[in-house]
Amino acid sequence: MTGAGISDDFLRKIRGEFPAFRLRYKRDSLVQRAIGTALRIVTFGGMTTYVSGYHTVMAGTLWVSEGWTSMTDCDRYVLLRHERVHLQQARRYGVLPMALVYLFFPLPFGLAYGRARIEWEAYEETLRALVEVRGLDAARKQKSWLRARFVGPDYAWMWPFPSAIDRWFDEAMAKLEEAEKSGTLVLEETLRAHGWTREDKGPSSA
Ligand SMILES: [Zn+2]
Repeated sequence: MTGAGISDDFLRKIRGEFPAFRLRYKRDSLVQRAIGTALRIVTFGGMTTYVSGYHTVMAGTLWVSEGWTSMTDCDRYVLLRHERVHLQQARRYGVLPMALVYLFFPLPFGLAYGRARIEWEAYEETLRALVEVRGLDAARKQKSWLRARFVGPDYAWMWPFPSAIDRWFDEAMAKLEEAEKSGTLVLEETLRAHGWTREDKGPSSA
């Protein structure tokens, strides 16, 4: 098992699927910095880390924060698994319809069901990737962190119903636990190409 280079190889895979895909730093973009400022205002100071702490796919470009270079290879890989889902969604729904649903359906804040559904699908992939590279326990530990993402200001209170988020999390984990137990959890092909097996786990903390 080797953990070296899985994120670079997965980036290559993404570029194969989405030839226009680019990776850029938010700090280098006036537009991204302006979005960060706007989010700080509309969330009443609740979301202050859009530029420094969040990675965002927008119209085929992954805008990364300062922290990208200090992340471990495994963490970058897990993040890219999430962001690839957003690229697939944009291809499925169209960039503009997806953006409208993401930002405004039915409301931009508080009841952003469209955004919550789009993020649910991507965070399910985050959990699956975590199980693949770090094991079930690492994924289980994300429960309160993930709940906070959905009910708090980070995504402008997109679905502020903690019990609904917990139920979704438990169902997603139950599916992964079942797949792991029955041996049907197939590792993503980049991991397999690096010789990972279901028993291999990367560093438990990052
Ligand atoms: Zn996302």
